[in-house]
Amino acid sequence: MEKKELLYEGKAKKVFTTDDPGLLIVSYKDDATAFDGMKKGTIVGKGAINNRMTNHIFKLLEEKGVPTHLVEELNDRETVVKKVQILPLEVIIRNYSAGSFAKKMGMDEGIKLSRPTLEFSYKNDDLHDPFINSYYALALNLATQEEIDTVTRYAFIVNDVMREYFSTLGIELIDFKIEFGRLGDGTVILADEVSPDTCRLWDKETHEKLDKDRFRRDLGNVEDAYNEVFRRLGIQ
Ligand code: ADP
Ligand code: UDP
Repeated sequence: MEKKELLYEGKAKKVFTTDDPGLLIVSYKDDATAFDGMKKGTIVGKGAINNRMTNHIFKLLEEKGVPTHLVEELNDRETVVKKVQILPLEVIIRNYSAGSFAKKMGMDEGIKLSRPTLEFSYKNDDLHDPFINSYYALALNLATQEEIDTVTRYAFIVNDVMREYFSTLGIELIDFKIEFGRLGDGTVILADEVSPDTCRLWDKETHEKLDKDRFRRDLGNVEDAYNEVFRRLGIQ
């Protein structure tokens, strides 16, 4: 399978068409951005780590009944995926307070929530991905009620599977963002990525941050953190 045309270049990945209209090739970059693209940098080796970690986790999720876009890993950075129409919703699940939630709720980070939360952001860079609820999503035709129900059900399964899995690696899953898309026949599947760019991952013992917050907050040892997560996955 070969790349044809560049369909889209995002902040972290390039997306290419292929000879098969139903398939795309995603190519993961080392580029890192934060704060709506205001902060830019490079995390050496990130592309390969995020590609291989996403595929590893997506395989696990498939086994647990969550359909994903994964078709075939081509090499360190590139993967063949099913082409979907991305639902313009960022689905965020939280197990512990952190980031914008901690700020908004006036809480310290790292407080365990009584139960996981789910929230949506409208995926729209011009509007800076505003927080919305399911009524907004329905009123703006971003998704149908059935799609919202499916996405919600899958997101909590993703959380259960990942929380348990990361726990075996000595990692606490604090929160994460996922994206879903529609196949041609309307089936909703998990797309995009699951990586230290999109999850907050803390060492269970030391609470050391092993994710993109090291880049966002200039905490140093950014590459080390990504490499440490990758090492614990045991997929070298
Ligand atoms: P951003 O667009 O936020 O800068 P990326 O650099 O990760 O993000 O770009 C990848 C883009 O590809 C995202 O907009 C994502 O929604 C989209 N995408 C991910 N998986 C698929 C897929 N299977 N089919 C179509 N688009 C996808
Ligand atoms: N997240 C993401 N992309 C975004 C916004 C958030 O992957 O555009 C992830 C982020 O890495 C974290 C979770 O979603 O794991 C919750 O992020 P939060 O709302 O706290 O926003 P932030 O503090 O990152 O601005």
